[in-house]
Amino acid sequence: MSVYDYDIGILGGGSAGLTIASGAARFGAKALLIDKEGRLGGDCLHYGCVPSKTLIKTAHVYHLMKNASQFGLPRHEIKSVDFSDISDRIKSVIATIEKHDSVERFCGLGAKVEFGNAVFKDEHTISLNGKGITAKNWVIATGSSPAIPKIEGLQQTPFITNRDIFYLDHLPKSMIVLGAGPVSTEMAQAFCRLGTKVTVIQRSGHILVREDKDMADAVMQNLASEGVEYCLNASVLSVRDLGSEREIAVKFKDGKIETLRAETVLIALGREANLSGLGLENAGVEYDGKGLRLDNRLRTTQKRIFGAGDVTGAYQFTHAAGYEGGVVIANAILHLPRKVDYTFFPWCTYTDPELANIGMNESAAREAGLKHAVWTEEFRMNDRGLTEGEGLGRIKLILDEKEKPLGVQILGLHAGELISEWVAVLNGRVKLSALAGAVHPYPTLAEINKRVVGNYFSGKIFSEKVKKTLKFFFSLRGRACGIE
Ligand SMILES: Cc1cc2nc3c(=O)[nH]c(=O)nc-3n(C[C@H](O)[C@H](O)[C@H](O)COP(=O)(O)OP(=O)(O)OC[C@H]3O[C@@H](n4cnc5c(N)ncnc54)[C@H](O)[C@@H]3O)c2cc1C
Repeated sequence: MSVYDYDIGILGGGSAGLTIASGAARFGAKALLIDKEGRLGGDCLHYGCVPSKTLIKTAHVYHLMKNASQFGLPRHEIKSVDFSDISDRIKSVIATIEKHDSVERFCGLGAKVEFGNAVFKDEHTISLNGKGITAKNWVIATGSSPAIPKIEGLQQTPFITNRDIFYLDHLPKSMIVLGAGPVSTEMAQAFCRLGTKVTVIQRSGHILVREDKDMADAVMQNLASEGVEYCLNASVLSVRDLGSEREIAVKFKDGKIETLRAETVLIALGREANLSGLGLENAGVEYDGKGLRLDNRLRTTQKRIFGAGDVTGAYQFTHAAGYEGGVVIANAILHLPRKVDYTFFPWCTYTDPELANIGMNESAAREAGLKHAVWTEEFRMNDRGLTEGEGLGRIKLILDEKEKPLGVQILGLHAGELISEWVAVLNGRVKLSALAGAVHPYPTLAEINKRVVGNYFSGKIFSEKVKKTLKFFFSLRGRACGIE
């Protein structure tokens, strides 16, 4: 039997790698965690979730300050923001969370941490800082990087990505954002609220293309009402550096060409898996432009090498990386054949209000050719939403032909929190009648979850047939008021 240096070696100390390293070490496996950056935490901690949500909160507070009179408060002159102060706050939140991802903590758990660029020599061996290291199992969890398009003039023009945006030394006066996915949409609103003139350029006809168009349009209209400008159905022809500004030539679907100028260009056009330079060809690991080729147990084309996190090219979220990390531990360490199942996978875009999703939305159900019905409830009917000054949004419940839930979308205040009730309901296969019958505290936003199910049941409960039967049994006499 071969003896390896480690039971499991993990390339990448981000959300996926950290989950796997800590889990494997706790189960008693000899684990090695390698990151090329000289620190742990990955994109989520340094360039993604943590800095973006910190920035969004700051922008939200500033927005409330500017709109205090809507809450019956006195108007005040509000000073412009100093982005370096905002950046300092971001760094301090990261520093607090970073302790959880420290080398010392992982060493304490029993995993060894090394830094450097690892290259596969064969399916069990990598070379790191000039030495060979072997492991029975390897995991590729090297994350993703912003995809940079091939656009005329872009190479000669300064631009920023998510790696720079949280660490700017001043607030840009104006910003053009290429792309209209979750990162773009969150940053467009936050920077607009802080005082930047933001223009978003999007190739297709609506933003947040993974979401239903009605929900995405509602988010866009809300951002537009706050001042974000949108160029939809527009592709970028070329980019030019004018010194203090950048110029972008845009061609619209109808053939019209326009030039736009801004101080800063943010590229947010999706992500590319970090797979080059790992020597994957030496280990027989196959991948394409989307990510690693994996089976449903997250094994690559080399059965002892696994993939987790953004490199899968599936759902590029921290909670997906954590979930996939658990699947890898089950398969590689515990030898339990566990498969990934994304049927009821939730996600949220952290605009204000938020847009959260679990399972299939309307367009996914339509594309899959499934017969379905949609039930809705509006936030303007939710008392707590109104007391909070936020009546925008709705919940959509999608049921299949057997009236089983396919998915739920919520656009509204704290939608990311509200969707968690559906995480339990859908994954636990809880009957909708149980949700309809359960008491929710008043006044809460979560009442909307019960109300949408109530809308579905009320059609059945208050049907003419039921009314007639009740009238007959209990000698009821019908309407007491109004036109008969
Ligand atoms: C602006 C922004 C906001 C986001 N907000 C959210 C959010 O709110 N919620 C959410 O769920 N997700 C969010 N995401 C997505 C989330 O950050 C990623 O899905 C998550 O970080 C992926 O985890 P990962 O482990 O695959 O990769 P990462 O966390 O990026 O970790 C990969 C690690 O691998 C290392 N590495 C790379 N190449 C090598 C190599 N050759 N050798 C060794 N190490 C290597 C890197 O240094 C890095 O530390 C956001 C992303 C962005 C960009």
